[in-house]
Amino acid sequence: MLHVVNHPLIQTKLNIMRDEKTHCRDFRQILDEIASLMTFEVFKDLTVHNKGKIVTPTGCEIDEIKLDKDLIIVPILRAGIGMSNGVVNMLPTAKIGHIGIYRDEKTLKPVEYFCKMPHVENPLVLLCDPMVATGGSASDAISLLEKRGFKDIRLLCLVGVKEGIDKILKEHPNTEIYIAAVDEKLNDKGYILPGLGDAGDRIFGTL
Ligand code: URA
Repeated sequence: MLHVVNHPLIQTKLNIMRDEKTHCRDFRQILDEIASLMTFEVFKDLTVHNKGKIVTPTGCEIDEIKLDKDLIIVPILRAGIGMSNGVVNMLPTAKIGHIGIYRDEKTLKPVEYFCKMPHVENPLVLLCDPMVATGGSASDAISLLEKRGFKDIRLLCLVGVKEGIDKILKEHPNTEIYIAAVDEKLNDKGYILPGLGDAGDRIFGTL
């Protein structure tokens, strides 16, 4: 259920994001690109159905095809927005939900403050959250979605650590996790090492 997307294009881009000298403009742009690239891996098993016909400029009639599943992209606020843009660029007709969860700085426990989801029958939901540290926010967000009846949930992340990933998979064994890198450990403030710092601050320039 864990997919480490270890592609050289993604790894070289991620390496630039890790550099503390990378400007937030470039950080944002590269995160967008990585999310778009990872979208191919996340959805490579989707199936399609025929929906009428189209005619090519060479006069050939071929099947018009559509995805079998409706997709909802759900960034966890706020850093998840930095990933969802890149995904939505690849899937412009997908609906977008939002979940707001923050980490209490003292307890490191997730606190939910916002959830707005589109009404779609039986969709495939892609939750976006770049950093899996304790795994608390992502796991809590998945619980929130499950409580609202969403069953088919995947998680797109950038960097995580084993303990956070294990927590999510233990609490939600049916969730597929797509991640670009599994780092060494957390420091005593809950930051991933080597990591890339606070993803939200680096995306939005709030350092
Ligand atoms: N969230 C971040 O943005 N960075 C970390 O290293 C851990 C959690």
